Amino acid sequence: MYTIVVLGSRGVGKSALITQYAENRFEEEYYPTIEDNFRKTDEIDGKSCLLDVLDTGSQEEHKSLREGDLSRGQGFVLVFSLTQESSFTDLLETWDRVLQARPGGEVPMVLVGNKCDLVSEREVSEERGEGLSVKFNCSYLETSARLGTNVHEVFRGLVRQIVRTTPGS
Ligand code: GDP
Ligand code: MG
Repeated sequence: MYTIVVLGSRGVGKSALITQYAENRFEEEYYPTIEDNFRKTDEIDGKSCLLDVLDTGSQEEHKSLREGDLSRGQGFVLVFSLTQESSFTDLLETWDRVLQARPGGEVPMVLVGNKCDLVSEREVSEERGEGLSVKFNCSYLETSARLGTNVHEVFRGLVRQIVRTTPGS
């Protein structure tokens, strides 16, 4: 089993991404999440994998992003909304927290710019997303939880990265 923690500011689409991945559906209304676990079995590179995905509440509401959750995670999805500049800059602090909780070694991580379907509302360019992923030393994907664009790729790519960096997993 692979434990994945999804992080990012309120409203960026964390719950929507997980719901699209785990249950292939999208809702217009999501309720503020406190914390929720989702299990999903996926076939990745011909191998059946069980993913345990933790949907965290937002940083604003839950300043005390639980250290336990951070140290438990084998891989991290850092999500911002392409339509909200502040959610992009918020991730610098989130990234610090992850590294503090996981010192030393490579931390499997993917940077996600969500809501790419809202083309006319875009505030963060693809170049800036790419730039931040260089700083984070991870890959960058632009997704739409609404349309399902790149959603599976986020989780499958992360599992591949966990497999590469965690001997025996
Ligand atoms: P969370 O607080 O990060 O869990 O964000 P939610 O998953 O609750 O999503 C917040 C709002 O954004 C909801 O109204 C969703 O329907 C909407 N939303 C999430 N992802 C997308 C997306 O990819 N495209 C569009 N257009 N709306 C989205
Ligand atoms: Mg949520």
